[in-house]
Amino acid sequence: MNDHDYEEDQNQGEAEDIVSTARKIDDQQLRVSKIRDGTVIDHLTAGEALDVLAILGIDGSNGEGVSIGMNVVSDRLGTKDIVKVEDRELSQSEVDVLAVIAPEATINIIRDYTVIDKKRIERPTAVTGVLSCPNRNCITNANEPVNTRFMVLDEGLQCNYCGSIVHEDEVPTYLDVA
Ligand SMILES: [Zn+2]
Repeated sequence: MNDHDYEEDQNQGEAEDIVSTARKIDDQQLRVSKIRDGTVIDHLTAGEALDVLAILGIDGSNGEGVSIGMNVVSDRLGTKDIVKVEDRELSQSEVDVLAVIAPEATINIIRDYTVIDKKRIERPTAVTGVLSCPNRNCITNANEPVNTRFMVLDEGLQCNYCGSIVHEDEVPTYLDVA
């Protein structure tokens, strides 16, 4: 049995009569409720859901509608995490940094309960405006109107201004979110 993806879940209502009971029971993703409009970040490696919330700056204090599935059974990944954010689509900067830490993820854009766009993310060549530089003396930490920019290299992300490297496992630490 394949790991069916979010689109099938969203469309399950329409296909109700041809969907077998057996399959529905097997459908672990139903543990996480459907959303009407927003973004579903699926196929995250187990444990990455919290990093995704950090990237999106979500801590629950702004009243966002967010559903999180952690360690959901997935045939493709063993277990996976899934994050659903209502009434929000990701900026390119957010997608870029997500691509660095969660290259296996897929992004589904939902409108009116239907997946209207599905994208597998691609590793970017640069990430702008989402990470802070670990070098305190870097111009990007000097209250200057300078956006951070990191080049994505094999060894990590390199600050465009001072050359400091943020290794991929350190990315969540340097997320520059409000
Ligand atoms: Zn720097």
